[in-house]
Amino acid sequence: MSNTASNPYPHLLKPLDLGFCTLPNRVLMGSMHTGLEDKAADFDKLAAYFAERARGGVGLMVTGGIAPSIRGWLAPFGGKLSWRSEVKRHKKVTKAVHDENGRICMQILHAGRYGYHPLSVAPSAIKAPINPFKPKALSARGVESTIKDFVKSAKLAREAGYDGIEVMGSEGYLLNQFIAPRTNHRTDAWGGDAERRMKLPVEIVRRTREAVGEDFIIIFRLSMLDLVEGGSDWPEIVAQAKAVEAAGATFINTGIGWHEARIPTIVTSVPRAAFTWVTAKMKTEVRIPLITTNRINMPEVAERILAAGQADMVSMARPLLADPDWVRKAEADRSADINTCIACNQACLDHVFEKKRASCLVNPRACHETELLIRPTDAPKRVAVIGAGPAGLAFATTAAERGHKVTLFDQNDRIGGQFNLAKRIPGKEEFHETLRYFERRLAQTGVDVKLGQRVEAATLTEGFDEVVMATGVTPRNVRIPGHDHAKVIGYIDALTSAKPVGHKVAIIGAGGIGFDVAEFLVHAGPSPSLDPQLWMREWGVDPTAQARGAIEGVHAAPEPPAREIWLMQRSEGKPGKRLNKTSGWVHRATLKMKGVHQWGGVDYQRIDDEGLHIHHDGEDKCLPVDTVVICAGQEPNRGLEDSLVAAGLKVSRIGGADVASELDAKRAIDQGTRLAASL
Ligand code: FAD
Ligand code: SF4
Repeated sequence: MSNTASNPYPHLLKPLDLGFCTLPNRVLMGSMHTGLEDKAADFDKLAAYFAERARGGVGLMVTGGIAPSIRGWLAPFGGKLSWRSEVKRHKKVTKAVHDENGRICMQILHAGRYGYHPLSVAPSAIKAPINPFKPKALSARGVESTIKDFVKSAKLAREAGYDGIEVMGSEGYLLNQFIAPRTNHRTDAWGGDAERRMKLPVEIVRRTREAVGEDFIIIFRLSMLDLVEGGSDWPEIVAQAKAVEAAGATFINTGIGWHEARIPTIVTSVPRAAFTWVTAKMKTEVRIPLITTNRINMPEVAERILAAGQADMVSMARPLLADPDWVRKAEADRSADINTCIACNQACLDHVFEKKRASCLVNPRACHETELLIRPTDAPKRVAVIGAGPAGLAFATTAAERGHKVTLFDQNDRIGGQFNLAKRIPGKEEFHETLRYFERRLAQTGVDVKLGQRVEAATLTEGFDEVVMATGVTPRNVRIPGHDHAKVIGYIDALTSAKPVGHKVAIIGAGGIGFDVAEFLVHAGPSPSLDPQLWMREWGVDPTAQARGAIEGVHAAPEPPAREIWLMQRSEGKPGKRLNKTSGWVHRATLKMKGVHQWGGVDYQRIDDEGLHIHHDGEDKCLPVDTVVICAGQEPNRGLEDSLVAAGLKVSRIGGADVASELDAKRAIDQGTRLAASL
């Protein structure tokens, strides 16, 4: 079928008949923990969150992980469905979704040795490298009762009105721990050879099917690439898929990588659809529909996968956090209007790891649907916004959507502020999508955009009721003898290539921007984030999946570095400790594989023709560098404020102009949106 005006994505938007129900399209909203599952009091918010996505046309949704027992908790008092008294709260979710003609499955997740509590259990008493709690090995009776817990949870899910369940068998959780020799050292009926290791998940699917009947969806999330030593090999994974199919699964969903894997699987530097090939490889092995996943964020990508027959459905979690109307926009051939997930993890996964409610950097309403309301105003105001960076864009478009008359000024000839620098970093190419989205929103909401206009107090003579300063930041200078030497440049000049950068480079300041500058300068040639084959070679992933865990015996083969780089900070300890929880390690590992020296506890002494003189590790050293790039933080850019106030204008500050804290577009967009919502 070719694209037509009435059906722009024929494979993506094609219904899927399951015999007992028909899904309207091939979009699955994959499971994602939001933090709202954990408290009964938050279920109204959870219901509103899912209802908004059901209204947006998602074919099938899956909740965040819900434990089938206390022992299976992810964390103490986490989401659980094992008692009848817990059914009522889940009914709020299913009713809200069904009222919008949506469908939803509940994911049953037993954390096993990833449980962050002292009651955790596992096939064998082996501690996970990412968890201080050592699990107890389940007894044979304990295994039996675990099966019963899953089955009971599935029956309660049915009673609560769910359309099905997803059995979480991947990502290194309990069932995956049983499957893999890495974590299953048992010698009884539930361990030993591959058949016995997979018996627990297969029994769970078989007995659940018996208990819930034929007209109930059972998705099995199968780890198709473990990405850890001692994971499954391909013949074992195929055998698992066939056994799960025979046991009664409706779908097999693709799981990629254990949480303890040291290969990134979803951060923004992972190429789009980087792992779809493994689902495609499974297509010839089973008959039930397969769902593919990871870094699929736009309809064009999803359509290409489905049209090529690589999968039957695509799973997306974060992209639907970013834009609940993703499917409706695809249906209307308005993919350019999609608020694209940039895979930054900053407001979703990072929040979950910090035990905060998830949200989305580009959509602060995510998981706050009942609280952050964007309503038409009945008192329109004339508002001037100075600065078209993320903060100014979020404010301007939200305020204009509400009916305010907004004029947006920027001294540059394009919108985006610092995002124009961020999108140049290899691995941050997705950031350009946010600017494309805001371009469209500005036009749709009728913001009067005045580019190439530097605002002074005298500029704002048109009688504005309010002025919003979204003027961002100015880079901080360093005071080291020789800081005015010709070889010293700022990070903006380095990233825009406004000044030449030599082959040996010292970067002063190892915050988020220092790391990004190092990535920019160390890469030569195409960005691995745009080339899945190159990316897998760099990280050492077996593209045939034959190696155990797809990594055993595979050597990472990074491209040679373009420069020799020293990335340094004054404070003691390893640079990068304060980078984001779920992506910081990827930045550190990328630079390490490119041979970047990452030094903490550096005392800068002077810069001269010889290079940068420092004291480090108890010694005086001279780094013979051609260029020194300053990434020493930023200050709020508020020079205008006093004159605006003196001119009698009512001024608010948002984004970097309010608080300068390096990589903080999350706060900038959130603050801009909230100010506009309250205007
Ligand atoms: P800015 O983006 O700085 O925008 C301010 C705008 O105001 C500019 O366009 C400027 O031209 C304009 N302006 C200033 N004064 C005037 C005036 N007088 N008249 C008219 N216009 C004026 N953040 C993250 O959260 N995650 C990341 O991964 C990330 N990566 C980054 C990578 C790099 C290389 C850089 C440089 C930044 C990165 N950031 C990241 C930071 C992020 O871009 C900023 O937090 C965000 O842009 C701040 O938004 P803002 O709107 O407050 O300010
Ligand atoms: Fe995507 Fe970032 Fe939003 Fe998470 S916070 S959904 S990764 S854009």
